[in-house]
Amino acid sequence: MKTRVYALAKCAGKVATALAPRSATGLQNLCNPLSHVPDQAVAIARLASQLSTCRAHRWFYAANRIHDRLTRSLRALRVELERCEEVAARANRSVPETRELLAELRELQDEFGDFALDDQGPTLSVVTEPVELEDTELGRFRICLLLDEFAGRDDRDPIRVIALDPRPAARDGAVTHPHVSGECLCAGDASVALRTALGDGRFCDAFLLIRSVLLNYNAQSAYVALDNWDGRPCGDCGYVMDMDDCCWCEACENEYCEECFGYCHSCDLSRCRSCVTTCEGCHEPACDGCLIPCRTCGELRCVACCEDGICINCQGDEEDNDDNELQTRDDDAANRPNTASNAPHAASAPNEATAPTI
Ligand SMILES: [Zn+2]
Ligand SMILES: [Zn+2]
Ligand SMILES: [Zn+2]
Ligand SMILES: [Zn+2]
Ligand SMILES: [Zn+2]
Repeated sequence: MKTRVYALAKCAGKVATALAPRSATGLQNLCNPLSHVPDQAVAIARLASQLSTCRAHRWFYAANRIHDRLTRSLRALRVELERCEEVAARANRSVPETRELLAELRELQDEFGDFALDDQGPTLSVVTEPVELEDTELGRFRICLLLDEFAGRDDRDPIRVIALDPRPAARDGAVTHPHVSGECLCAGDASVALRTALGDGRFCDAFLLIRSVLLNYNAQSAYVALDNWDGRPCGDCGYVMDMDDCCWCEACENEYCEECFGYCHSCDLSRCRSCVTTCEGCHEPACDGCLIPCRTCGELRCVACCEDGICINCQGDEEDNDDNELQTRDDDAANRPNTASNAPHAASAPNEATAPTI
């Protein structure tokens, strides 16, 4: 027990040391209004001396005017001093005393089971119970107060909320809770109360407020609404779909939305856009299995656009060639003179060739 008390006191001491610069910031704030006070006091003393001179010489008109100025200056000085008093009170309050810190740490232990004080950072943190909002389990969160930031060494937000069992929104991995993005909390309506609690050094109240933000869902201020938490992102365009609307591509083993999904026009297999290629012949999508290189030109065509391994283009060329070849043969035959091979033909119709047709 004694060791626990000692450890707690040691922690309170460490927190107090980390927060010490905060009092310097508070005192710095006090210096500005205080710097005007001596000038105002000197001006008042001068007016007082002028007033007594006027009275001694019975310059009543001038004395009245100086009296008015003196009254105004005294009022201004009073306002300035009140302002200084206020700043001084705040500067003093901004750093809780070690005994107050000790009480805060004890309260943290009561409310959260325990707290952690990490020398690196340094950071004071607590862990929440598992958070479940509208049947969505989000796991536990570590709520951290960065003491350097809090002490005013840095303008950054001193609060971090870290998901310990992260189950982020499908559409944005940085959103680990509807009200947490990139470890930063959007406290919504609780922001003012949270700032005040931190400003007063009421750490436990601040942590309790943050826990209450984490345990309550407000759809209006959510980074990602719980309704859309569990969709699946399309592997192509990133659109988050309902589970029922996912299309599965067996080729690349990924999920896609309907817009990014299609099928091979040759074999009807369902495929994503990346797993089909547009056939240059018919301009329809075809899967890898249905695309073959043309034996003549080597270009990929779908099976519907090939015959005997030759694409329609090359077949067209081939037919033209065949036609040309036939034509050439016919021309050759017509122009060919009679030879021995023609002899039987010539012999069979000797009269035709020789007999006059009269
Ligand atoms: Zn898509
Ligand atoms: Zn196919
Ligand atoms: Zn695919
Ligand atoms: Zn084709
Ligand atoms: Zn071809």
